Amino acid sequence: MDLEKIKEIEKEHYMDLFRRSNICFERGEGCTLYDTAGHAYTDFFGGIAVSCLGHNDPDLVKAISDQAGRIIHTSNLYYNVPQAELTEKLTRSGMFSRVFFCNSGAEANECAIKIVRKLAYASGSGRTTILTARESFHGRTLATVTATGQEKYSAPFAPLPDGFRYVPFNDLDALRDATTPDVGAIMLECIQGEGGMIPATYDYLVGAYAFAKQKGLLLILDEVQTGTGRTGKFFCFEHYGIQPDIVTLAKGLGGGVPIACCLARGEAAEAFRPGDHGTTFGGGPLACAAANVVMDKLNGGLLDRVAEMGDYLADQLSSKLARHKFVLDIRGKGLLRGVQLDEKLSAAGVAGKMMSLGVIIGTCGHNTLRIAPPYIITRAEIDDMTDKLETIFSNTNI
Ligand SMILES: *Cc1c(COP(=O)(O)O)cnc(C)c1O
Repeated sequence: MDLEKIKEIEKEHYMDLFRRSNICFERGEGCTLYDTAGHAYTDFFGGIAVSCLGHNDPDLVKAISDQAGRIIHTSNLYYNVPQAELTEKLTRSGMFSRVFFCNSGAEANECAIKIVRKLAYASGSGRTTILTARESFHGRTLATVTATGQEKYSAPFAPLPDGFRYVPFNDLDALRDATTPDVGAIMLECIQGEGGMIPATYDYLVGAYAFAKQKGLLLILDEVQTGTGRTGKFFCFEHYGIQPDIVTLAKGLGGGVPIACCLARGEAAEAFRPGDHGTTFGGGPLACAAANVVMDKLNGGLLDRVAEMGDYLADQLSSKLARHKFVLDIRGKGLLRGVQLDEKLSAAGVAGKMMSLGVIIGTCGHNTLRIAPPYIITRAEIDDMTDKLETIFSNTNI
């Protein structure tokens, strides 16, 4: 099917939700994507920080095809081998005692929210309110879009569920002031991805952890984007030397196959009883088989590579771009980086120019370029991408 035909069908029959780029990728190999016209692009976006192993990874493809040939779905009414293996891998470090598998980041956060509610219900404490940060992003279901501290996402969908209150990010005093007796949890991102690639300061996250501990609040970290090795450690919170009660993972976990999870420890891990929560598809054999490959590769040296390439990417971005007058800030961790641009130069416009030069990058809040390549990205690919950005900035006269 050619691109014009695809666009025609989509325009007529797909819900009017996405402003898609005028492109249809047909296949990929490593960090290279090919469109229907056969043009090649280097992928510095990974389908929104998802495709961590790149495209057509032979081990991932083999694990998925082998599993598909054995059994694809059984439901959670029965045990399944890949799920048990993945559970073991995710809890082996001892940081979290239990996991729940689901299919998307929003669902993983729903699970976290329900744990807070269930604990308040079981204890009769009334501590059902969850504090979340302004400019955060936690998903698109009614509860998670309400948790998301950006009205533009939630306002059209009123009435919204109760139980969320918003505080400015990176402001510890605001967090303390907002903690009334009805508050049971604090939910934060280590780096606000959609919000503009804004990292939590060290003092903020460590302070929030200490404050939560002191007040008996649960600390939930939404690591849907920053987790599964993206920042050079398996969890981004490891950079801060803290340990949340609940963490959620999704984007990179299945290397592109939909799978997410909510990991918990302590009382949060023991909140549910049979029937309290569930899922038909979550943690199915096929998705878990994919995630097992991602886990094995991370533990087999890929995580170190993310840290190394992440440093190289940061180096190249700052040495080539920092001096340009359009570049206001370069931030992020590991292979998750943001380049904030002056309002005069649209980040979406720069991403469009990069695409015409054969490089895919994304954008996020505050007019910021979002760079989140597969973990197998090479120095040569980073050199090429940063050279192209430099050329665009040098040739822009505004
Ligand atoms: C992408 C994202 C989500 C939502 O994940 P979905 O899989 O789209 O539901 C939630 N939180 C964060 C931090 C994200 O980046």
